Amino acid sequence: MRLVIVSNRVTIPDRHEKAAAGGLAVALREALEKRGGLWFGWSGDVNDAAAGQAVRTVQRGKVTYAVTDLTESERQTYYLGFSNRALWPNMHYRLGLTEFSRTDYAGYLAVNRRFAKALIPLLKPDDLIWIHDYHLIPLAAELRRRGVTNRIGYFHHIPWPPAEVFGALPFSATLISTMGAYDLVGVQTQVDVRNLISGLVSLCGARMEGGKVRMGRRETTVQAFPIGIDVEAFRKLAAASERAATRPIKATRESLGARKLVIGVDRLDYSKGIVQRLEAFGQFLRSHPEHRGRVGMLQIAPPSRTDVPEYAELDRQSDETAGRLNAALGEFDWTPIRVVKKAYSRNALAGFYRRAQVGLVTPMRDGMNLVAKEYIAAQDPADPGVLVLSRFAGAAQQMGEALIVNPYDTHEVAEAIRTALAMPKSERIRRFERLYEIIDATDIGWWTQCYLDALSGIEAPAQDSA
Ligand code: UDP
Repeated sequence: MRLVIVSNRVTIPDRHEKAAAGGLAVALREALEKRGGLWFGWSGDVNDAAAGQAVRTVQRGKVTYAVTDLTESERQTYYLGFSNRALWPNMHYRLGLTEFSRTDYAGYLAVNRRFAKALIPLLKPDDLIWIHDYHLIPLAAELRRRGVTNRIGYFHHIPWPPAEVFGALPFSATLISTMGAYDLVGVQTQVDVRNLISGLVSLCGARMEGGKVRMGRRETTVQAFPIGIDVEAFRKLAAASERAATRPIKATRESLGARKLVIGVDRLDYSKGIVQRLEAFGQFLRSHPEHRGRVGMLQIAPPSRTDVPEYAELDRQSDETAGRLNAALGEFDWTPIRVVKKAYSRNALAGFYRRAQVGLVTPMRDGMNLVAKEYIAAQDPADPGVLVLSRFAGAAQQMGEALIVNPYDTHEVAEAIRTALAMPKSERIRRFERLYEIIDATDIGWWTQCYLDALSGIEAPAQDSA
């Protein structure tokens, strides 16, 4: 059975590219190579003739990459507008940041329609179709409407909010009802399963039957598949970093000296709680002045979605907060907080994680949060650091041995930093070993396999497209 993956963005690998360590893209590429398959989606390019142009295909081994460009108006409405200014904030429980426009929603539906039309000629009758993420929720419904009877699965990488929150989005009932076109809907956690099912029931009258959601004549399985990382690859990268003399790692070692390091790594996104985290670090230094000069925070925050106004505002706020705290708390020879707004390679990150005594992962809401898992994978088993983790990250459902905090409570986060820095080695090792065991048992290979086993195990849908 061939595998067809559809995602918003598709990156075609260079012909001689060696697989980078870990990551979702690599895991999906491996699944495609194993079975042979097709990966379809947006090229990332914008081109005003895109809507009328044929799909471009590139063959790499057993995998066909098929991409289409978007027009500027499609990028504005489908991608920046409805996906990133309406769905993203709503699904991260941020009604106040949600910017809905009918034009954006129409653009979102139109791109899903265009993707369906472009994909159909490339499909074979027994292809297993796996669609990824919130940009493409209505895609299966568009395929079914045009007669596609293949098994179709969807994985939702971000949180699914409670029905009351999702219901505030205009057209939420229509949108959620398109979930019924899938055979399998995967989400990150049991909380997301509950929220999605209660949304299906309350917003569009779905019924639960034998553990499945029934809507009209179709049945959909909704199940949690917590996504993982390539633990082994990360562990190796981090262990190698101890010996490595790459510039960022060497320079970090030199500039830190004997000082302890607290690290945060996030795209510059308001869901990540970066400003609140900086405030918590400031609070920690105020409440525990004995740590001043002895510990520093490094926040890596590569800019993201810079065309969206809410992100420009966050960029300004994080600079302002770090500047204010550094001015108030720093010394002539010590800067408490460093915010670096650029992306680092996994290799460099693995080295930073390993060097850091505390991993501070405090999103206000996050589907999973892979940084939490990477931080653990990168620790030295003989002298591991401590993970401080938001209870609102999907990862907290699996990683209860971290210091779990409420990111809205600055005082609590500040005290967790102190507890982490003071934790005896025996307790650090005990917590680390349990966390490592969990992330290793549910790594990215496990995740891909579980999802595809579940999807291929579902009986082929009846030959109707109701
Ligand atoms: N990442 C990276 N370089 C950076 C910052 C982040 O490669 O400078 C990677 C990080 O290692 C992780 C991913 O980006 O694998 C972020 O995933 P996560 O689930 O934490 O958050 P998302 O950005 O998907 O919301």
